Amino acid sequence: MEPPNIERLDERTVQRIAAGEVVERPASVVKELIENSLDAGATRVAVSVEAGGTEGIRVRDDGVGIPEGQLEAAVAEHATSKIGDIEDLDRGVGTLGFRGEALYTVGAVSRLTVRSRPPGADAGAEIAVEGGQVGEVRPAGCPEGTTVEVDDLFYNTPARKKFLKRTATEFDRVNTVVTGYALANPGVAVSLEHDGRETFATEGNGDLRSAVLAVYGREVAEAMVDVEWEPKGSDPDSAGDPASAASPPVRGVSGLVSHPETTRSTREYLATYVNGRYVTASALREAVLDAYGGQLAPDRYPFAVLFVEVPPGDVDVNVHPRKLEVRFDEEPAVREAVEDAVEEALLDHGLIRSTAPRG
Ligand code: ADP
Ligand code: MG
Repeated sequence: MEPPNIERLDERTVQRIAAGEVVERPASVVKELIENSLDAGATRVAVSVEAGGTEGIRVRDDGVGIPEGQLEAAVAEHATSKIGDIEDLDRGVGTLGFRGEALYTVGAVSRLTVRSRPPGADAGAEIAVEGGQVGEVRPAGCPEGTTVEVDDLFYNTPARKKFLKRTATEFDRVNTVVTGYALANPGVAVSLEHDGRETFATEGNGDLRSAVLAVYGREVAEAMVDVEWEPKGSDPDSAGDPASAASPPVRGVSGLVSHPETTRSTREYLATYVNGRYVTASALREAVLDAYGGQLAPDRYPFAVLFVEVPPGDVDVNVHPRKLEVRFDEEPAVREAVEDAVEEALLDHGLIRSTAPRG
């Protein structure tokens, strides 16, 4: 065997490998683009995809826009308007993005166009990136806000393209992502279109039930009951109670859960959010299921849209951009709060029977 010949990879290759770490499939691109729109304060976010997103992805918003002079920076590596330095990170990030790598990496593995007109600007401008080659900024006619188009994802990384699943499967994942943000942001009108056909469109009127209606339909929306839980002692009556002096490990649990007979055969409709972020935490899902106390048929899962608020320092959100799992410092307390919250809601509506006296 020959001794190995170790060589530094060229920049293009490094860029494409790195891109694969963030952008795995169309749904991951959609996630990044929606987060950018929400960070830009959009009240409308319209997503449309072609062939499950493998051929085309377009996200249009009515947010703050990107001034012409900043378009180049927007698609550059490690360039962000959201944090300045590591101290900002330590203070806690209020935006969904902050790494400044999404547009750069997407541009490395697709044909990307970013077109924008900040509200009040006379004209719009656009920049195109093709396989990492950044083009010139040009004037472009466009409405106020930003439109990002991503065509032919992975056209220059055939190995990665091969890993994509059937169009229908890729679209399912896109749908799950867009649904997740639509439910988390009932105040934003979020719409999704696949191959020219509307999948859903929320009204953006701030009402969670109305968002659930738009996304899951009437049958599910009508089977949902409200969850509203606060830690004991947070009501003004017991303000002087020393037991409530310390910051509680869970600040609140709210949202909607379904009647035990309105279920599906997968867990995918159990949507949980921690401090506004969509997360998959088995502890949260199990707590929800436990609350139904044996009222669910075997292998059936309810619908849930649950928002859990914990002190920001008690949960790690500075995780890998693709990972949705979270860890809680106070996991048993979080579990208990979620189970109590859901159980209380179901009991209040007579949807489960009380098994033990509650006090
Ligand atoms: P990050 O979101 O981590 O800052 P991105 O690569 O996703 O990094 O975006 C780079 C920058 O481009 C953002 O910091 C923001 O200033 C700008 N930008 C991206 N998308 C939008 C958008 N839809 N509306 C306004 N500005 C945007
Ligand atoms: Mg971003």
